[in-house]
Amino acid sequence: MPLPGHRNEGWHAPVRRVVFTAVVLAFAALATPAPSAGKDPTASSREAMVRTQIEARGIRDQAVLQAMRQVPRHRFVPEARGKEAYGDHPLPIGLGQTISQPYIVALMTELLALEEDHKLFELGTGSGYQAAVASRIAARVFTVEIYEQLAASAAARLRDLGYENVAVRNGDGYSGWPEEAPFDAIVVTAAADHIPPPLLEQLKPGGRMVIPLGNPFFVQQLVLVTKDAEGRIEETPVIPVRFVPLLGH
Ligand code: SAH
Repeated sequence: MPLPGHRNEGWHAPVRRVVFTAVVLAFAALATPAPSAGKDPTASSREAMVRTQIEARGIRDQAVLQAMRQVPRHRFVPEARGKEAYGDHPLPIGLGQTISQPYIVALMTELLALEEDHKLFELGTGSGYQAAVASRIAARVFTVEIYEQLAASAAARLRDLGYENVAVRNGDGYSGWPEEAPFDAIVVTAAADHIPPPLLEQLKPGGRMVIPLGNPFFVQQLVLVTKDAEGRIEETPVIPVRFVPLLGH
């Protein structure tokens, strides 16, 4: 009679092979990406943001919708607020400043009617998010931020994310960026009680400016300012908004 060990040996060899194979397969499964793992997990949050907050409110410009889908908004908010990045609201970015609500960024970008050869000036870099979105459509974006700390962190963030067509400068954006003027489009992302004359001067004939105008400490109107070929200015109020006040000058 064979020793129990021998019989066991006979039984266990195939079982061991099966177990071994299963373990190898399990490791292979861990190493091989699942079908969805190659995708950016935040892409679905952005898709939902675009559908429910932006398209649903009437934004139709495909280039704008595409840019809003692409730019990783969660990288532009403080890490601790990452989970709220795709919510339907502004968020604090430090120094009492905010990153605008996604819909407002989309609306402003649509109103600018950017084209791929356009040069845009932005007053109020903040997190750099609006600049990043616009940079997916326009050729070059020049943005000025009055707080050195915000300008430095936005510049580093934009560089890390590879947005090479955005130039960030620390200073008072009230005087624009004369060396790069004139601009096809200008966006002001802080509330002003008047249109800064240097910005109006730096807007090309045929150009468009979007600016929150009104009481900087209360509610403003988002205004589309156009300059026609003869230099005539027209102002069209769009919707009531609340921006942080324009500082300096
Ligand atoms: N566009 C930003 C949000 C802007 S919040 C984003 O996408 O995140 C408004 C910003 O304008 C703040 O960061 C504020 O510091 C800046 N700001 C206010 N007055 C300014 C001025 N005169 N020149 C440049 N930046 C200014």
